[in-house]
Amino acid sequence: MKYVKAPLIMTPGPTYVHEDVRRALSKEITNPDLDLAFYEFYKETCHKLKQLLNTNNDVLILSGEGILGLEAACVSLIEPGDKVLVIDNGIFGNGFGDFVKMYGGHVELFQSDYEKAIDVEKLEEFLKKHHDFKMATVVHCETPSGITNPVDIICPMLKKYGIITVVDSVSAIGGEPLKTDEWQIDMVLGGSQKVLSAPPGLTFLSISDEAWGIIMNRKTPIIGYYCNLSIWKNWYQEKWFPYTQPISDIYALREAVEILLKDEKALERHRSIAEAVRKALIAGGLKLYPKEGFSNTVTTFMVPEGIEFKALYEEMLREHEIIIAGAFGFLKDKVVRIGHMGENCYEEKVYLTLKALDAVLRKNKIVIKDELHKLFVQYI
Ligand SMILES: *Cc1c(COP(=O)(O)O)cnc(C)c1O
Repeated sequence: MKYVKAPLIMTPGPTYVHEDVRRALSKEITNPDLDLAFYEFYKETCHKLKQLLNTNNDVLILSGEGILGLEAACVSLIEPGDKVLVIDNGIFGNGFGDFVKMYGGHVELFQSDYEKAIDVEKLEEFLKKHHDFKMATVVHCETPSGITNPVDIICPMLKKYGIITVVDSVSAIGGEPLKTDEWQIDMVLGGSQKVLSAPPGLTFLSISDEAWGIIMNRKTPIIGYYCNLSIWKNWYQEKWFPYTQPISDIYALREAVEILLKDEKALERHRSIAEAVRKALIAGGLKLYPKEGFSNTVTTFMVPEGIEFKALYEEMLREHEIIIAGAFGFLKDKVVRIGHMGENCYEEKVYLTLKALDAVLRKNKIVIKDELHKLFVQYI
């Protein structure tokens, strides 16, 4: 078997997977349905995720990439005709509405400037007049635009009107503060391949008692099986999983959570590295996409004039063995994204990335005011 040397993947997920996490993947497995010890292992792993999410709510790990969590929440909570407030200031926020519709929900969009964090004052005004919603969807970090939304304000505000909240925190958990219980978030959705830096393939989610109440007391049955959260209600008491668990992936996730929980400086590192990246790019003469509400896990800046995104991406990979990301939807070919999350949120890796970016831009005759990597060191 031939292996390809892996490039440095400075993307907003998947991220670099630590050697200990990769080793956990290769551990000998047991039968996860029949070996009772695995039920304890799964439960303990959920417990560690609870610590990360600051919650006492139930947590589940599901086999499937981040999108599965979004879909499972919609499938399980929404009944045909339910009114759902979809809070939208970006591609993921808007896309949430598509899942809501798919499962019969009636979508009302609250749109906010795509270049800024959600305007909470406008949302408050809106809610005074319109608040007849069963639930609301919110995106914590809009990964394509690099914007973090103030879910700490938004979710309690919605709760005052009795609206339950589903927060897509896939690209934020671990890199941004998240207090699920204090902020009264009914469901938080996460993925293995972002800040946690485990291999792609798992979703984890938290479910409040109120959300469980809705899931278990529907008028119409939940369609489908794999996304149906009600089948998980008593997995531990009954020592029964709805399907064979991806045990190796869960071993890896467990190792990854432990690494992150041990790292007391993780949040501060995400904050300070993100800030230094932004300052370096601005001082170098580049333009960030967001006007405010900057993410701590991903930085999005405009593709400078004089180069196409594709050429920039290809040269970064070919000459420097570093992968940076573009975006999709209306941002396709317009922006560049550097992921600095989880295992990639270290000065050395960001330094190498900015040094390579600096070199590629200069080679393409783009005027950079000062060396990006040196600026980064100056600001860190
Ligand atoms: C990554 C991500 C997901 C998961 O979807 P992908 O298919 O991995 O892109 C969901 N929501 C957000 C906000 C994400 O960043």
